[in-house]
This record gives sequence, structure tokens and C-alpha cells, in this order.
Amino acid sequence: TDSDTADEAVRATCDDASTCKRFATSKGYWRDPYIQYFIRSVGERKAPEINRGYYARVQGVNHLLDAFIRRAECNCQVINLGAGLDTTFWRLKDENLLPRKFFEVDFPTVVARKIHHIKTKPPLSRAIIETHSTDSLLLDAHSLDSDRFCIIGVDLRDISNLDEKLKKFQLNPELPTLLLSECVLVYMTPSHSSNLLHWAAETFHTAMFINYEQVNMSDRFGQVMIENLQRRHCTLAGVEACQSLESQRERFLKNGWEHADALDMMTVYSMLPADDVARMERLEFLDEKELLEQLLQHYSICWASRDKLSLGNSHSDY
Ligand code: SAM
Repeated sequence: TDSDTADEAVRATCDDASTCKRFATSKGYWRDPYIQYFIRSVGERKAPEINRGYYARVQGVNHLLDAFIRRAECNCQVINLGAGLDTTFWRLKDENLLPRKFFEVDFPTVVARKIHHIKTKPPLSRAIIETHSTDSLLLDAHSLDSDRFCIIGVDLRDISNLDEKLKKFQLNPELPTLLLSECVLVYMTPSHSSNLLHWAAETFHTAMFINYEQVNMSDRFGQVMIENLQRRHCTLAGVEACQSLESQRERFLKNGWEHADALDMMTVYSMLPADDVARMERLEFLDEKELLEQLLQHYSICWASRDKLSLGNSHSDY
């Protein structure tokens, strides 16, 4: 059916994200020793502005994520929604920043692929075995559950199934919880993403939600971005919330979140640690500074919080 084709095109986007990250890390933009096990070959060259954009995305998201985990002294959970082939679990383990439990959710077919890689690549499975204490490790084709890492195959538009599966795998609503979605909500209709944000706000009293996705999509450049995705049968069903930074914040505030802030990625880029940015900018010559600026102005990080335990999650000065 049409909707199966549309979902298949959305599932394929996890390869785009990881292929770009694979290329950028091969050039030294940042370190990720695990992505090679999910995407074997470095692939075609990507333009420098794309690599710099991914650098800003990864550094910006990691900065907020790590700050949350440090404030909670690792006594927290992370739920990566639409995680695709993301490697954050392995990075956090290596940096001694593992939360009590790290959950990932994606479509069952994406999860099956990810689990296959984990099963067959010792550098990936080792981290899971090392952080697991009993003999009850669950590792079948469609789910993985260990003491510290859990991967669930479920459609994020099916909230009752999501809630049920997470609880089945010992999600604890009382723990400070960080929810992360990177280029995921934009593929869902406004009512589906609102339901998801609302469920998260109702479920966790102390939580932060980090959302990275497109913004300022109503101008000419935004239209071209939409057309490029449509050419690959990918519809940005949630593009309505991507009109402005204000509409990004609004969506959280309307769905039970107490505070919300949003920055476009050009602003994030200018706030990143200057010494590492200088190192990164020397990696590849960038001719067209304007192209980078335009690209970065069309992505944003929005973060929202609920803070019953007063962990300081509501502060906007990250
Ligand atoms: N967050 C990852 C990253 O940044 O590398 C992957 C990003 S990829 C662009 C979008 C991911 O969201 C895909 O893996 C896709 O399967 C997942 N996704 C989109 N809609 C979903 C839904 N309704 N249920 C579960 N996963 C979904």
C-alpha cells in the first residue's frame, strides 16, 4: 500500500544519517569507533558543509545529553526514539557515562538489522555483555534486553504498544529521564508527534526531551529541502511544526512540558567550543560559507523539560 511505501522510505533514512556520520568520522570530524560496524564502507564523498552540519548536530546533541546525565549522576534513563543505527550507547559506556538503562526504539525491521550487527560484531556485543550481570540476557531477532541496554521494535505512532513494551523491559517512570529524537518527529503527522510528546510528559515527572530537526522550512531553501526528500518518496508529514523556532517550542508547551527552548544550528555552531571548531574547520576547505549558514539555519535543537526533582533541567543556559 501507499502507507507501507511511505514507511519504508522513512525507515531508509536511518542509513542516510549513519552514512553521513560514517563519512564525517572517517575524515576526523569527531571520533566514533563503532559506526564502522553498522556502516561498513566509507562511501561517497560528502560536501564539507554537510560534514560540518553533522559535526554541529552531534556535538550539540551530545552536549545536552551528557549534561543531563552528569546532573543526574547517571541515576537516570535515556530513551532514544527512532534511534536507527545510532552508537551513543557505546560512546557513553566508554566515557563512563552510562545511565542506569539506555533504551532505543525504532521500527521492528530497523531493530532487526541493528540486532543482527550487534550479534555478529564482537566490539558491539562486548559492551552489552560487560554491563550485564545475570544469565537472563534476551537477544532475539526483534528485541534485545540486558541490564543496561534495551532495543525495542515498535511504531512510535502506537503509544499504547510503546508504553507497554517499555514497561515490560523495566522502564522506571520515577527516574529522571532523557528522551531524544533526532530527525524523527518530522516524519510523523502533527497529531502523532503531539501524542508522543504528551505521553512522555504524562509518564515522567522529571525529564528532558531533546529534539533535533528541520526548521524555517517555509522559505525557498526549505522548499528545496522538502522537494529533495519527496523525490525519494519521503514525506515530511510533520513539517508544520518546523516552520519556526517558536512552533518547535509551542508543540512542547502545548503537550504538558513546562519549559522549552530552541536554537537554530547556526547559533549552536557559534556556541560550540572554539578550539575544537578551529581544529574541525581545518580538516576540509570550505569555499561557500553562505551555503553552510543557509543549511544550518534550517535545522534546530529544541529542548523541553519537566522538573519535579529540581535537577536544574529547566535552566536554559546550557
Ligand atoms: N536518530 C537516528 C540518527 O540520528 O542517526 C536516525 C535518524 S533517521 C533520519 C529516522 C529514524 O526514525 C529511522 O531509523 C526511522 O526508522 C525512525 N522512525 C521514523 N518514524 C518512526 C516510527 N513511526 N516508529 C519508529 N521509528 C520511526
